Amino acid sequence: CIPCGHVYGRSCLEKWLAQCGKKSATCPQCGKMFRQKNIINLYAPEIVVPNNDLEKQVLSLRDKNEFLENQV
Ligand SMILES: [Zn+2]
Repeated sequence: CIPCGHVYGRSCLEKWLAQCGKKSATCPQCGKMFRQKNIINLYAPEIVVPNNDLEKQVLSLRDKNEFLENQV
């Protein structure tokens, strides 16, 4: 995680920093500058990326399931 809050794999961030050729680079998503020493390791068992389409699909399937349960 970099200070702006965006999350990347550490190896990707290191490649990105090397590509920029210095100890600081800008976030690919928001353009905010960060330094190598500002990278924070996140030890999360699982990372979930919010996906609106997937969430809508789940809600739609839940409704359908409820409808079918009521029919039975
Ligand atoms: Zn950012």
